[in-house]
Amino acid sequence: MDLKQAQAWLNTFFISIEEHKAYLSELDNPIGDGDHGFNMARGCTAAKAALEATPPTDLNGLFKSVGMSLLSKVGGAAGPLYGSVFLAFAKASLERNPSDDYAAFLRTGLEAIVLRGKATVGEKTMVDVWHPFIEQFPHSASVTVIDALVEATKPLKATKGRAAYLGDRSIGHTDPGSFSSGLLFKAFIRSVSL
Ligand code: ADP
Ligand code: MG
Repeated sequence: MDLKQAQAWLNTFFISIEEHKAYLSELDNPIGDGDHGFNMARGCTAAKAALEATPPTDLNGLFKSVGMSLLSKVGGAAGPLYGSVFLAFAKASLERNPSDDYAAFLRTGLEAIVLRGKATVGEKTMVDVWHPFIEQFPHSASVTVIDALVEATKPLKATKGRAAYLGDRSIGHTDPGSFSSGLLFKAFIRSVSL
């Protein structure tokens, strides 16, 4: 993965978040506070601006800049979670090129999410997309599989995050953070040669 590919991945993700911001917040209405899309869009706009102001020269610089922007601008649960994902990616890309082992690279992001959020599979969080996507990679590298993983959060009962306050009433709704994670992975498979 070279800098150009990684930039294409993130630009595609930023555009996708912008396009889906209303929908993402709509998903967050019934089981949260309706801010997920607007939170993420604010962070992605800030990340884009930071990259334009100080263009990164390598993968580490790119991921670090995005991580810091998301950490400081997204807020809520998603800000620290996505922020730490990109900081983990920055660290991982110093050690070896992500394309040496994409699953291992993405796993460093999942580990950062779990370290912060302490969620396990089945608790109706973004972990429910990250974990199977990585475990089934590269078989999971298709829009159909990603959509299915996001859809599979619907019947789950939330036991972590804001949605957990709803208990059984969280059942039947798609998890917003899982949807935005799906956008990240769809951007990934579109921009990176696997
Ligand atoms: P908030 O819940 O603070 O309003 P957002 O609405 O931006 O934050 O993000 C909500 C999303 O964050 C959820 O849909 C879920 O995917 C994710 N999330 C919440 N708590 C956790 C957690 N402990 N571990 C992993 N993901 C989580
Ligand atoms: Mg919210």
